[in-house]
Amino acid sequence: MTIHCSLHPSKPAHFQCHKCDTAFCGGCIVQRTVPQYGMMQKSYFCPSCNIPAEQLEIGNFIEPFWTRMPKFFIYPLQLHAILLVMALALLSALFPTTLLVYLFCFVVSTKYAYTVLTTTAKGNLKAPQMSIELFNSNVLQVFKQYILFAALGGIATLIAKYTGIVGMGAFGLICFILMPAMFMVLVSSNSVLAALNPMIVVPIVTRIGWRYALMFLFLLLLLMAPAAILYLAPESLPAGVGVFLATFFQHYYTFIAYNLMGYVLLQYHEEIGFDVDYDYFIKSSQTKKEQEQVPTTPEEILTNQINIMVKSGQHEEALALIREESRGKENDVELSDKYFNLLKICQKRDSYIKHGPYHLGLLINQHKKAKAIKVYQELADDKEIEIPASSVLTIGRLFFERGEHQNASNCYISFIKSNPGHEKLPDAYFPLIKLLNEHTGNKPKAKQLAKGLIKTYPEHSLTPAVANYVQTMM
Ligand SMILES: [Zn+2]
Ligand SMILES: [Zn+2]
Repeated sequence: MTIHCSLHPSKPAHFQCHKCDTAFCGGCIVQRTVPQYGMMQKSYFCPSCNIPAEQLEIGNFIEPFWTRMPKFFIYPLQLHAILLVMALALLSALFPTTLLVYLFCFVVSTKYAYTVLTTTAKGNLKAPQMSIELFNSNVLQVFKQYILFAALGGIATLIAKYTGIVGMGAFGLICFILMPAMFMVLVSSNSVLAALNPMIVVPIVTRIGWRYALMFLFLLLLLMAPAAILYLAPESLPAGVGVFLATFFQHYYTFIAYNLMGYVLLQYHEEIGFDVDYDYFIKSSQTKKEQEQVPTTPEEILTNQINIMVKSGQHEEALALIREESRGKENDVELSDKYFNLLKICQKRDSYIKHGPYHLGLLINQHKKAKAIKVYQELADDKEIEIPASSVLTIGRLFFERGEHQNASNCYISFIKSNPGHEKLPDAYFPLIKLLNEHTGNKPKAKQLAKGLIKTYPEHSLTPAVANYVQTMM
């Protein structure tokens, strides 16, 4: 059963907190770099409890292998893989009888296939890039699979000696069926003895269950595919082309098979006992876009943490966290907005009355017009809240610009009523006069106010404009 992110029910979870049981996807978990054994290490914390979260097995958040079969088929089409397949096929076609060429192709293909298996198992789904290092490093490790074959051959001979051909046949069949599991044990433990140990191999097969049979069947088809394709090829085919096609498909299907085994190892790494480094897996499996979505800056992490607390209903805790973290970040409008909403949810009346007007000022300063209007309307309905005169005036202008005449008028009237003698009164009167004249059809009132304004503020910078406007009203 896939565990899903408690906050994004459509996303599989990567982590789970053992204290609060909440599950988190890669975007919800809090990531911090902390010193560990004298080195800086990435650690993952539950955003609510602030304790290290438990990483879920990779199988929980990758596509199961049986739903991504087509992707295995196109895996060798990636540039480096297909170039290698073509080169090997070409070499074999050009020198069909040269033993040295045959051996060279065999070693290169085996080494590449083994690298496909190990990189896939670590979570890197891109075909390995060809390099000298790729073919040079860990060569012995690759040939351990042949030591494994040799050992099995030796055991088979012994069995044949004591039980005859039937016993050997049965043993061969069992080995054939267990072979992919033995391979996976070999890769994860790097030990031929472990891969030969039925006490290790058989439990893995039973843990993977019927899906092992599915993988086995698929591998079997892959094994037979090149031969089947050649069988279907017309007989008139020139020998060189035949060899080219045969080796091409052979290598192509080998890479698919190793990619599949690597992926099964990745999906069942927990059952098989193979360590997958989460950070490497994430880095190599996520697209650039997905990586950008993961919160990394302290601001993003804090926002993420607050969002999660809010979504999981820990409002008081979120409020406390903002209080603690917002010192020195008084201009952070997003944080202020979260605080504002949380104060309402938690019914912190006193703080709300204090923070509301401050939040409105911040929204105005940062030109968040739509939000400012919304918050203003909310605050204006609350008789206990005192909105600063300058904010009322700005909101009046915003309403005016939007063509919301009634709301604009209300703002200006409220400003005029609550601020007698304010130096900016003409800034409220002038637009109000325009509104009365142009939109409310109250010309006499507009004229009366205009005349009063000119008379009271003969020196004000707006007065000439008001006087001109009065001329147009006649
Ligand atoms: Zn927790
Ligand atoms: Zn999530």
